[in-house]
Amino acid sequence: MTSVYIFGGAADHADPRQKDKAVVGGKGANLAEMAAIGLPVPPGFTIATEECLRYLEDKGAFSKQLEDAVAAALAHIERTVGKRFGDPADPLLVSVRSGAKVSMPGMMDTVLNLGLNDETVEGLTAVSGDARFAWDSYRRFIQMYGDVVLGVDHGLFEEALEVAKEDNGLLADTEMGSEDWQALVGEYKRIVAEAIGRDFPQNVHEQLWGAIRAVFDSWDSERAKVYRRLNDIPRDLGTAVNVQAMVFGNMGDTSATGVAFTRDPATGERAYYGEWLVNAQGEDVVAGIRTPQYLTRAARERANAVPLSMEEAMPEAFAQLSRVFDLLERHYRDMQDIEFTVERGKLWMLQTRSGKRTAKAALKMAVDMVAEGLIDEREAICRIDPMALDQLLHPTLDPAAPRDILTTGLPASPGAASGKIVLDAETAEQWAGRGEKVILVRVETSPEDIHGMHAARGILTARGGMTSHAAVVARGMGRPCVSGASAISIRREERALTIGKRELKEGDVITIDGSAGQVMAGEVATIEPELAGDFGTLMDWADRHRRMKVRTNAETAADCRRAIGFGAEGIGLCRTEHMFFDAARISAVREMILAENEAGRAAALAKLLPEQRADFAAIFGVMGGLPVTIRLLDPPLHEFLPHGDAEFAELAAATGRSVEQLKRRAGELHEFNPMLGHRGCRLGITFPEIYAMQARAIFEAACAVEGAPPVPEIMIPLIATRREFEILRALVDRTAEEVFAQGGRRVDYLVGTMIELPRAALMAGDIAAEAEFFSFGTNDLTQTTLGVSRDDAGRFLTQYVEQGIFARDPFVSLDIEGVGQLVELAAERGRAARPGLKLGICGEHGGDPASIAFCDRIGLDYVSASPYRVPIARLAAAQSALR
Ligand code: PEP
Ligand code: MG
Repeated sequence: MTSVYIFGGAADHADPRQKDKAVVGGKGANLAEMAAIGLPVPPGFTIATEECLRYLEDKGAFSKQLEDAVAAALAHIERTVGKRFGDPADPLLVSVRSGAKVSMPGMMDTVLNLGLNDETVEGLTAVSGDARFAWDSYRRFIQMYGDVVLGVDHGLFEEALEVAKEDNGLLADTEMGSEDWQALVGEYKRIVAEAIGRDFPQNVHEQLWGAIRAVFDSWDSERAKVYRRLNDIPRDLGTAVNVQAMVFGNMGDTSATGVAFTRDPATGERAYYGEWLVNAQGEDVVAGIRTPQYLTRAARERANAVPLSMEEAMPEAFAQLSRVFDLLERHYRDMQDIEFTVERGKLWMLQTRSGKRTAKAALKMAVDMVAEGLIDEREAICRIDPMALDQLLHPTLDPAAPRDILTTGLPASPGAASGKIVLDAETAEQWAGRGEKVILVRVETSPEDIHGMHAARGILTARGGMTSHAAVVARGMGRPCVSGASAISIRREERALTIGKRELKEGDVITIDGSAGQVMAGEVATIEPELAGDFGTLMDWADRHRRMKVRTNAETAADCRRAIGFGAEGIGLCRTEHMFFDAARISAVREMILAENEAGRAAALAKLLPEQRADFAAIFGVMGGLPVTIRLLDPPLHEFLPHGDAEFAELAAATGRSVEQLKRRAGELHEFNPMLGHRGCRLGITFPEIYAMQARAIFEAACAVEGAPPVPEIMIPLIATRREFEILRALVDRTAEEVFAQGGRRVDYLVGTMIELPRAALMAGDIAAEAEFFSFGTNDLTQTTLGVSRDDAGRFLTQYVEQGIFARDPFVSLDIEGVGQLVELAAERGRAARPGLKLGICGEHGGDPASIAFCDRIGLDYVSASPYRVPIARLAAAQSALR
């Protein structure tokens, strides 16, 4: 079966595989589709993605079949344009581009003008009647091919061009004449020969296969791998290769090239948006060698720019272009991002794809397109990437808050963030891993910093512009970024930096405002994003279509309020141990943990009871009548033990016990595997007074609520057996009766469990006989099913994902086929034993769209996610219901 597809000219475009992005990549599918609907597309062919995988599998060998198919496809191009590849009199030239199913930075860049050599350049001169154009095209080809295929440092070519201009006293490329370009070609060929130890390839077929090879090889480049990992793109997609007849935007003043969006990709406004250049080739527009011009008159006037817009300078070609825009939007029913070339007045389409957009623009376009009748509500819901909402949900700086501005840089990526300064990516990852907010501060960033940028709340660089690595990557990740803040000087060895006249060190807190480019000392107050307008409309639609409820994981009143603002319908997990990390309480908690006996524990618990009661009262107050699931204490003990002499001394002073005594007791409690140790319900079994105190605090707070009382859902963690649950449920019930008897008021309540151990999942039927609800704790369930420590997995899981052992990090996205089986089985067994058993999920997976879809499929009642992910979960639940 063929894996090379032709398009344009007499091609019939009948094979549906040719329009399938998985088969021919996004670019290839869209070229075929544009040609099929009659748009002007230069003829070409696409080598399917499966050939890439076969090539990589075969360690870089091409099959005879592929060679034959490419030869036949090349003949199609030759027939259509009436030129032959390598013909010294009138050569066919082609472009070569990569094109995976999804657009992927890191892949091989475009090569244009392929097919030129010392002979064919003469033919091109003769046929075009323009020696300057021919030699300029040849030097561009050597430069691009040298850079992307042969791996020659592109800086060498740029330097040579600068020298040539200087020698001739010229300012712009456009002033170079044909002899100048010809001389530069000689210089370029010398540069290549020196760099690679052989001459620039003159054989056009060798050129073509070299470019195809480079596309395939780039699929496994480091940059591509990192991008795939961060964006959950599987390796086995592979990339396609598109080979297409060249059309020329650099054939004089009636030729041009440009890029355009059918709507504004930043705001979503319904206005053409783009840039173009007269007498130029594609890369000139993006490379910034010449300043591109505006597409429309309105845009030019708004910017007060002088050079004419395309609308004014080439009205006919612009009219062709706007007809194409309309056709494309109606055909794809989405905003398109296109590349075009005008060759001597005639428009050619080189690419179209659904355009990337900010989250704000995505919302506006989806809502507008429903109003325009292009799509319906369901489609609008399904169009928005739930994870993209993240961009809209982050706070901005409160304009009224005082700001101690240290310096300013470029507003490279919007949003505000505060955090501790970290000076390298490893530190960023480590500190973030233990729950700290960090701002990564670097001279500039590079792809090796990506994991640190990911871990950081924001990124600040001393160098680099709006399109620097830091800026581009941060925008993609939705992280705030200030770049090019040149007043910063970093002394990494000393873990310190100077900003202007101020001295700071690693660990000091700063705030950055990526919308204004400001850098401030300390933490600056923020305000919550405004979620009205298009966001509200879309979320309302989503709510209408979803089946599952969405709750939140929260334990402070502030987080609860925020989550309700984001649409949370209850609390799915209140981790009570998080209430104890507070500096004022930690000492009482340590006292309780390190107590020698029950009396010691009782004394410490007596201090904690009123605090806990107040915590729960606050939460019930904020949540109104919404369900609240409170999990009893589940601390891996090591997180609470004192560390270092200072903390022991402090605790000794507070408790009146000696440091030695405390250290001895801490030594006794030391565990080799705290995650598998004395935590969760095991603590409740051995120290029942702790859970009794918590249950008392919950019931006292609930009984004190004025008006309709809440229905607390009390959750016992880390249950493995029915008996554990029975013992602890009896303790909770006993405590409830005591409180009700003392206060003279009763409240309804549920007692349920987390399912976070494989045994609990297997024994779910048995446990459900006792438990009134299940909440899947998929963090621990993943840890215990895979036998992979949550705390240590980061060190090797990236490799596991890179090598395709896991498609995604199983702590981020549920391992559906493995861990998912246990979840599904427990849900079935639980419901069989107790019809109507309430089921939810509260592991991190509750905020991950793919895992949410799974939860929906197996019929869970709700997912629970951290506050900022609540809208993501609402949208993902709706998408799942609709798909
Ligand atoms: C879980 O294990 O999935 C869970 C939600 O509990 P924690 O993360 O607190 O262990
Ligand atoms: Mg857990």
